[in-house]
Amino acid sequence: MKTLYWVRRDLRINDNRALADTAKSGEVYPIFILPEGLGGASKWWLHHSLDALQKEYGRRGIQLGLFVGKPETVIPQLCESLSISKVVWNRWYTPTGIAEGQSVKQELDRMQVRHLSFNSQLLIEPSRVLTKQGTPFKVFTPFWRHCRQFLKSQNSEASINFKTQSVSLVECGSSKLDDYNLLPTRPNWASQFSEYWQPGENSAHQRFESFLNANVDDYGKGRDFPALAKTSRLSPHLAWGEISAEHIFTQTTNAIAAGAANSENANKFLSEIGWREFCSYLLYHFPHITERAFNPAFNNFSWESNDALLRAWQKGVTGYPLVDAGMRELWHTGYMHNRVRMVVASFLTKHLLQNWKEGADWFWDTLLDADLGNNTAGWQWAAGCGADAAPFFRIFNPTLQGEKFDVNGDYLKQWVPELSDLPNKWLFNPSGAPERVLVEAGVKLGQNYPYPIVDHKEARELALSSYQAMKDFNSRA
Ligand code: FAD
Repeated sequence: MKTLYWVRRDLRINDNRALADTAKSGEVYPIFILPEGLGGASKWWLHHSLDALQKEYGRRGIQLGLFVGKPETVIPQLCESLSISKVVWNRWYTPTGIAEGQSVKQELDRMQVRHLSFNSQLLIEPSRVLTKQGTPFKVFTPFWRHCRQFLKSQNSEASINFKTQSVSLVECGSSKLDDYNLLPTRPNWASQFSEYWQPGENSAHQRFESFLNANVDDYGKGRDFPALAKTSRLSPHLAWGEISAEHIFTQTTNAIAAGAANSENANKFLSEIGWREFCSYLLYHFPHITERAFNPAFNNFSWESNDALLRAWQKGVTGYPLVDAGMRELWHTGYMHNRVRMVVASFLTKHLLQNWKEGADWFWDTLLDADLGNNTAGWQWAAGCGADAAPFFRIFNPTLQGEKFDVNGDYLKQWVPELSDLPNKWLFNPSGAPERVLVEAGVKLGQNYPYPIVDHKEARELALSSYQAMKDFNSRA
């Protein structure tokens, strides 16, 4: 039997249900079709991840075919030219991922080619997690409690390793990876990414194992301090499916049971894997949230549109040191620490009153871990308009956040070195420092570091009055 395996955001060999299914086939043709609408940083990751995957397949004597076009066109054409009798893939629960899967199914049904799809992205099929009333959960804690209960009753991580012996090498004609043109050239703004990241399944597993061995026990407290590398940094690997959530969940649960991981900290880590699950779940049940607020009251919020403010935020020149550090970390490394993501997102939507979608678009383009569920829900959470979101009126003070979570300014000094010589007291509030202190530290406001683009107190009051105006409007409507 000839099987076509459509590789999507599951760039891995292990713990891969669709691929495991092909073990029963005689000949397997793995193919990848370039998705549309990827951000620039994601493209960089994809190039290197595909390169790593092609090498893995190569070691098993298999060529991963690379194609361009609509899946519902490319796949039927391949089925015809290669006389394929079955197509398998792992489901991807974004609106586009679902629509693509449906179109491919329709075409295959028309051609009478068998097809089978699997959940290999999430811990649980999102349609199976519902409240007692049969409706989707909208609050994280009961959602995750329900998931944990469900997972307990499952015999998780069946042995689904790929049996390579039974598969024969098949050429199916393909583009070269370089033809995808995924890497930036002029300018090569991604030149530093490889200092921080190594895409691919092997490195995903190494990262996870070293996190589980060395850092998980400090996770609960350590995860809030951007200067400490206490989080797993698995997000881009997870975004491309180089490691499965199921593997992470099972290994971590086993480590807790064996007493090899501190239960409280490891469970905190698992609940973040739960947030990933929740974000994809929300997107599955409420696909409109990529465009509109989860909380419909916010459809009447008067966002402002100011290019100069948006650009200052993007470039990390707002005059608020923690915000600037985060935005520069993002540009330089394709990643930003979660605590800082919350602060910069709150700043853009509340201090600058820019629409959360502007921020989500920028993150989509610049984050290596850009993930439609996490990014959409993360932005809506920070802007106060999402499911189980931080209330709008809770406005982060970026100065206090810096003083609390970057006590010695180690993170700040790495990304905003022009402030390095300021005494700790003024690191996050240079515009409040006496002139003498600034001179001694070599800080020239307005020259080598900007004045704050908005005044914190005024911006906070304006945000709160915009929020009140929205509420007044809604109560009259
Ligand atoms: P860890 O703390 O080690 O967590 C392990 C994994 O759990 C992460 O890799 C991630 O898959 C998941 N996770 C952790 N925190 C969250 C969270 N708050 N929401 C959902 N999943 C979570 N994450 C993305 O993967 N892609 C995005 O595009 C993205 N955009 C975001 C935008 C905003 C405005 C905010 C506030 C958060 C966003 N996040 C996003 C969530 C979070 O910031 C990152 O997942 C996390 O910082 C990744 O670092 P880590 O792998 O070291 O996380």
